[in-house]
Amino acid sequence: MPKFDVVVMGSINLDVKVLLAKYPEYGHTTTAQTIDLIPGGKGANQAIACAKLGAQTAFIGAVGLDSAGKQMLKNLEDHQIDTQYIQQSWTTGTGTFVVMVDAAGENTMVGMLGANADLDVSKVEATLANVNAPIFLLQMETSQPSVLTALKQAKQAGMFVILDPAPADNYFEEALQYADCVTPNEQETERITGIKVTTVAQAKEAAQIIAAKGVANVIVKLGRAGSVVYRNGVSTVIAPYKVHAVDTVGAGDTFAGALAVEYGRTGDFLAAVEFANKAAALKVSRAGGQAAMPTRKEVLTAKL
Ligand code: ATP
Repeated sequence: MPKFDVVVMGSINLDVKVLLAKYPEYGHTTTAQTIDLIPGGKGANQAIACAKLGAQTAFIGAVGLDSAGKQMLKNLEDHQIDTQYIQQSWTTGTGTFVVMVDAAGENTMVGMLGANADLDVSKVEATLANVNAPIFLLQMETSQPSVLTALKQAKQAGMFVILDPAPADNYFEEALQYADCVTPNEQETERITGIKVTTVAQAKEAAQIIAAKGVANVIVKLGRAGSVVYRNGVSTVIAPYKVHAVDTVGAGDTFAGALAVEYGRTGDFLAAVEFANKAAALKVSRAGGQAAMPTRKEVLTAKL
């Protein structure tokens, strides 16, 4: 059986970022300042975070049989990620979002999940029955049956299951039962608990509510305010690193990947959250998405 440090399951996208001085009016045509193709998708981002941090990483996901799919597979392979478990869909294209950003920095997006929504349960079952890894990391951007099947099977196989509940889709209650750890951000926490999280006290209260839904390890991410961990009946506040925030894109994905890698390596949960906190802060201090995610050496040596 092939052995990995981490198996990641999730979305793979090729996004189109359009920088505009001003959004076009309805029915009008305008030219962009720049148009860039950017590899993304939470699953791919988290797998790349893991691989850059030195983990042997396998990926379960789906792309279309198109040039975007080929490019995204190559991108994962270039990061030494095992792509043999990625489905290539005949019926639909690779997931793509067009992100328009105006001079004020406001984002407007339109896109499609494409092949991500087509990920077959049989592909998930066959893969998880044939790989050996201590850690399974997933989000909720692939099809609902693929997410629920993966959660159940990984749990049964005795893997430590980390669920980044993004987006906190309407079946989160069922999904949470199978997770050993969940990592919602403020918006996802509100969706899951009904509590609008603006203070650490509210984050602690929300984390306890999530734990009561059957999750042993809860991390409520608070962006530049750090995070709150709740486990074994104890809350711990993880103070943020004070960095100059250049670009927060991929902060959460860096955090998830770093948590998975470091917990798998050491088995020390709080130390792994501290490591993830530093890795994410380092990402935030740099411009870019996947390319700005840090290596293990960079995390260990960075003076933040
Ligand atoms: P994303 O914006 O990538 O989707 P997210 O919403 O899932 O991220 P956040 O809560 O924004 O998650 O950030 C995840 C973690 O990254 C935080 O818990 C913190 O450790 C770190 N982080 C985010 N923003 C900052 C910041 N401005 N300064 C320092 N650390 C940060």
